[in-house]
Amino acid sequence: MLPPKPIALLSIVVPLYDEEAVLPSLIQRLNAMRATLDIESEIIFVNDGSRDGTSALLNRAAGASSALKVIHLARNLGVPKAVQAGLRLARGEAIVIMDGDLQDPPEMIPEMVERFSEGYEVVFGRRLSRARESSLKKLTSVLFCRLLNLFSRLKVPDGVGDFCLISRHVQLRVLAAKTPVLLRVAITLLEYPTAYVDFHRPARHAGQSKFTVARMGRLAFDSFGAARKPR
Ligand code: UDP
Ligand code: MG
Repeated sequence: MLPPKPIALLSIVVPLYDEEAVLPSLIQRLNAMRATLDIESEIIFVNDGSRDGTSALLNRAAGASSALKVIHLARNLGVPKAVQAGLRLARGEAIVIMDGDLQDPPEMIPEMVERFSEGYEVVFGRRLSRARESSLKKLTSVLFCRLLNLFSRLKVPDGVGDFCLISRHVQLRVLAAKTPVLLRVAITLLEYPTAYVDFHRPARHAGQSKFTVARMGRLAFDSFGAARKPR
């Protein structure tokens, strides 16, 4: 049995790159979810060098709520660095990291918090299915996972992406990493007690995927390197 863990504050870190089309719905659904929690929560939006109306929308929202913090990165640095910037500011005992396009439903967060309170240091959202994502994307993601599991000691569970809730211990270890790697790899490498919350992953709420093949390739390469390092 794991000892139960009390939470006074929950932090929610969301990297955003050109997400003006999703942002109003995202804020509305996050706030509706936060109102159902019986703990305090803060949202940390990391604007990863957006060129559209994301910055203006974020500044307006932050002006209206003290629970909402915004970091503007000077240019587009990519998801791992944007997440690290958000983690640096997060003060909660538990920290959620989620995509901003509503593919990671905010409504799952209360169940993730429950698992965390039971004593787990890591709670992953686990996809049972993925709606309207390209076959190429699904294939490369499954292939990457299989290769990683085959050629390293790391076992990244099927269906796990970067939607997760982590403890402060995990936050500090992720922040200490010098080379940014996929969050699921960085976290799985730490081998903390982990729980899973299953869900059917919806399609992006609006807009286009922001990942480029070159960036994804680089991240996969670095993640491989990190997973193969002797521990
Ligand atoms: N994102 C970001 N910087 C980037 C690329 C993406 O902050 O350089 C954000 C994006 O706005 C979204 C999350 O990371 O909130 C996941 O990106 P996306 O939905 O495009 O990825 P996919 O679901 O296609 O893998
Ligand atoms: Mg997405």
